[in-house]
Amino acid sequence: MEVREKAKIVITVASLVAVTVLFVTEYRRRRHRRKKTSHLSSCYLHSELKPQFGFKRVLADNSYSEFKHLKLDDASSSLEKASNCHPYEAEITVLLENIQIEFGFLRGECSLEMSDSYVWVERESQLKELAEILAKEKVFAVDTEQHSFRSFLGFTALIQISTHEEDFLVDTIALHDAMNILRPVFSDPNICKVFHGADNDVLWLQRDFHIYVVNMFDTAKACEVLSKPQRSLAYLLEAVCGVATNKSLQREDWRQRPLSKEMVQYARTDAHYLLYIADTLTAELIQLATEDSSSPDDKFHFLLEASRRSNMTCLQLYTKETEDFPGSAVASSIIYRHLNGHGDNSTISVNSEFQELVRKLCAWRDLMARIHDESTRYVLSDQAIVSLACKQPTKTEEIYDTIAHTDLASESSPSFIRSSVQSPYPVICSHLDDIYQMILNKLAKLDEILPVVLKNCLGTNGTCPISVFNYSLLVNFKTKLSSRSAPKKNGHKNFKQFTRLASRELFVKKFSCKAPVYHNCRIYANDGRLLCYCDKRKLEWYLNRGLAKLVEENPPAIMLLFEPKGRPEDEGNDFYIQTKKNICVGCGEGKHYLRYRIIPSCYRVHFPEHLKTHRSHDIVLLCVDCHEVAHAAAERYKKQIATEFGIPLFVRRVLDSKEAQGTSSSMEDESMINSEDAGVSPLHLRSAAMALLRHGNRMPSSRREELLQIVKMYYGGRDICDEDLERALLIGLSPHERRKLERKKGVSLKNSAEATRMDKQENGKKDNDSLYIHNPDASLDENNDEEAPANCAKIMNVERITVTDDSGDGGTSEGDGATELNDTQCNGNMLHQQNSKLSLLGHGPHGKQIVEYLLREYGEDGVRDFCQRWRKVFVDAVHPRHLPGGWNVSHSGRRDFGEFSVYNPTKRLSTE
Ligand code: AMP
Ligand code: ZN
Ligand code: MN
Repeated sequence: MEVREKAKIVITVASLVAVTVLFVTEYRRRRHRRKKTSHLSSCYLHSELKPQFGFKRVLADNSYSEFKHLKLDDASSSLEKASNCHPYEAEITVLLENIQIEFGFLRGECSLEMSDSYVWVERESQLKELAEILAKEKVFAVDTEQHSFRSFLGFTALIQISTHEEDFLVDTIALHDAMNILRPVFSDPNICKVFHGADNDVLWLQRDFHIYVVNMFDTAKACEVLSKPQRSLAYLLEAVCGVATNKSLQREDWRQRPLSKEMVQYARTDAHYLLYIADTLTAELIQLATEDSSSPDDKFHFLLEASRRSNMTCLQLYTKETEDFPGSAVASSIIYRHLNGHGDNSTISVNSEFQELVRKLCAWRDLMARIHDESTRYVLSDQAIVSLACKQPTKTEEIYDTIAHTDLASESSPSFIRSSVQSPYPVICSHLDDIYQMILNKLAKLDEILPVVLKNCLGTNGTCPISVFNYSLLVNFKTKLSSRSAPKKNGHKNFKQFTRLASRELFVKKFSCKAPVYHNCRIYANDGRLLCYCDKRKLEWYLNRGLAKLVEENPPAIMLLFEPKGRPEDEGNDFYIQTKKNICVGCGEGKHYLRYRIIPSCYRVHFPEHLKTHRSHDIVLLCVDCHEVAHAAAERYKKQIATEFGIPLFVRRVLDSKEAQGTSSSMEDESMINSEDAGVSPLHLRSAAMALLRHGNRMPSSRREELLQIVKMYYGGRDICDEDLERALLIGLSPHERRKLERKKGVSLKNSAEATRMDKQENGKKDNDSLYIHNPDASLDENNDEEAPANCAKIMNVERITVTDDSGDGGTSEGDGATELNDTQCNGNMLHQQNSKLSLLGHGPHGKQIVEYLLREYGEDGVRDFCQRWRKVFVDAVHPRHLPGGWNVSHSGRRDFGEFSVYNPTKRLSTE
């Protein structure tokens, strides 16, 4: 052998060895790392932030519930009902039947050029601008990219839109919750949307944004009609435009930001040339007809056929896949493929064990994918399931190795994943023990595995985070399982209990204070006597103004440099010189608490400024359970106040038409009209208002009074003017009906915007009494439509959630810097973000009228007595055992430091 050849062999062997060693070490290292993480009981998602977790509204969550289709353009907002029909069926059918389609988009002047510039749309304002631009177009081209590997149902990660002038790339991750802005242009039958192979795009747009496409030209359908040899976009780009594209980019990770240059180029290419291609194919379709036909009438025959087929695509409806048991369909197919591949049915017993394990693993994988919002293949590959079911490894290390080996050999993951992390992915690593248990048969029956897994993941003290994607899984799960087999009663009950606990957990997580409320900072008078405990911000307020000096660091304490007005002890206000514990004053719960306002804001907001200063006395911390008790008592007491003072609460709700029919058919039915809880029927309200407006000054006064009563009732008993009557005309009308009425009247009703707002307020208030999500069953079937998670909508109606009411004296209480309940903390609840102030203050003029009455009749003492009554209501309901020393039902509320005090309204904290 020549030296050269020898050297070659040595080098080859050496490098082989090196590669193997490298591979093994890398593999060991990874395995080691994974094993470590798997011993932590906590889930990988706690340390991984997936972009979709920032979405506030998710239309298709990972529960087993059906997808709801909705017709929602901005004008008609939430008044439309969810259904399972295509919301634009009528509009699309018109297009299908109308042979006189105007192909107005044919300009014959599409340019092939693609410039260097494009528009990256990532802010709402930009999206609005885009919608305005598109509204003026006759045609635009669309393509979408979605991400499906790290998501259960997949989500649209990018929408490319091209007009004749420009390419737009819409960042649908950043704009996920604002995409409704594009709904109108997509459903506008006068604007043609050009797609290529739109089947998936149409469904994805429905799934993620309730965007429905009406009027489409699909260049793939045109190819079909033209019997082109190929129908792919790559082919058309090449054949029609002479442009080459690298289709492997479609499997890139489209969540990535910023997109790479290549990805931008690819994405633009997919939409940019579609208008040119559509133009060309349209010409060919017309050409084909003229060659082919005997009569010139048929000129558009083929073009219409292509258009008809395109619009048929629009009629498709997104549905969530359903199977009779989670993972059962794919389990059957895995088993079928495996047995066929082996041609080996000899050992029946092994087979049945194998099959049982495959079914379990598939069911488990399905549920894990839903819980973590991952694709099933990210959880566990089909191959890995087969390997596990064959080998049935009984040690966690072996389980890990089996999965790793199998997936390493088959390389089924997308390229972008392959380059970074490899199977077994974190989801397996943090939940390896489940597989171990399944193999050891500890989680005996198939039916029983899932509730246990769900409970371990999302139950109280569960390992995994609750999100908008998995939350309703908890609520809907039971129904899903019981549809298959009637489970044992007991299991059912436990399950119910634990979903309830889990919902409570979610509530606590979302709404409890995120930091200790009481900082227990101290303020001393210049003679060294303790004046009060307070939060850090208040200290800073004095310090920044040179009104105090810092005398202690930790916890901080200041001494006032001016002479405060009096000392708390001297006034019997011991309360202020107690440290306050961060616990529920009701039961002492220390793990979570939220603020509770003992005097309901609807009254307190109308108090004279100086009577609001004892805020820290009348805002206490309560745990969720005590909060519920206190709130319910307060709601009851409000009704009592309403009766006692003869000042009704705002009419609670406007009945829907069905309810109204059921209640009474006669307007003269006094009992209905006057019963507070029955509310007022919009029909009665409107007809009374109409009669008053039209014939008010001519009708007998008794009749007039009668009708006035009805309208007054709606406005909480206050006097009403003509403007109120006008507004009442619109109550309960749909926007469509409103417009009709406006037209009929020939004038634009100036208050219609307000009426809409008031309606929304009404809608918001409807559920006032079922505030908590402790009872998931109650919310199961309600159509919470667009607002997810469902129960947030209800939670948000709570009057106690103050956003604006107390801003006046903000900063005077403990802990204003700490988290308060607010709307933005509630996922998916945009409606209430707009209406928070309205629904929070609730009861319309009731609160104001009560306070005015008190002040008029009894002066400030009346208000003080009133506060005492509320404190008593609170004490009677909650029986608080942990109120801070000095807390007192008859607290005077007189408390100020005089001229320099933060309590002095003219010196209010400027930070507010
Ligand atoms: P396209 O419009 O052809 O770029 O495809 C749109 C989206 O469909 C892509 O973003 C992918 O999520 C998905 N997709 C299309 N083809 C494939 C494929 N062969 N493999 C994986 N995903 C695909
Ligand atoms: Zn987990
Ligand atoms: Mn594309």
